[in-house]
Amino acid sequence: MKTEIYHYLKIEFNFIISNYYKMPYTEEEKRLRRNEANRKSYQKHKEKRLENRKEYYQNNKEKQKEYYENNKEKVLEYYKEYKQTENGKRNNKISTWKYSGLIVDDYDTIYDRWLNSVKCEMCDKEYKMTKKGYLDKCLEHNHTTGEFRSICCISCNGKMRYLDEEKK
Ligand SMILES: [Zn+2]
Repeated sequence: MKTEIYHYLKIEFNFIISNYYKMPYTEEEKRLRRNEANRKSYQKHKEKRLENRKEYYQNNKEKQKEYYENNKEKVLEYYKEYKQTENGKRNNKISTWKYSGLIVDDYDTIYDRWLNSVKCEMCDKEYKMTKKGYLDKCLEHNHTTGEFRSICCISCNGKMRYLDEEKK
C-alpha cells in the first residue's frame, strides 16, 4: 500500500514538474518546425529562382554565347567534370527524361526512386547489366500524356511501349 501511494505521488510530482518547466517547444519540436519553415521557404524561393534564372538567361544570351565561343575548351572541360558529379548526373538524367516527354510535379522524387530501384517494379526481376556497361533500368511513362508509370526493366519497358502502339 505504501509503495502504491508513493508511486502515484511520484507520477503526480513528475507531472507538475514537467508542466512547470515545460519549454514552449522541445528540441525535437523545434527541429520539426525549423524543417517545415525551411521547406516552405525553399519552395517559395525555388519558383523565384527559376524565374530569375530565366530572366538572366534572356538578358545575357548574347554575352554567354560570346563567352562560350571564346572559351570553348574551358567550358566543355567544365561540363565534362560537372557531368561526373552527383548533381551533374541527376540534372543530366532529368533533362533526358524531360526531353523524352515525361511530365511530373517533382522530378527529384522520381530521380531518387529511379536511383534506389534495385528491381523492376513490373516483373520484379533484378536489373541486368547491359553490354554498354549500365543497368537495364528504365523510366516508363505514357508517351502521349507524359504521365509517369513505373521504374522497370528494359524488356517491360519495351512491352509497355508495344501495348501503347497497339492502342493507337
Ligand atoms: Zn521487368
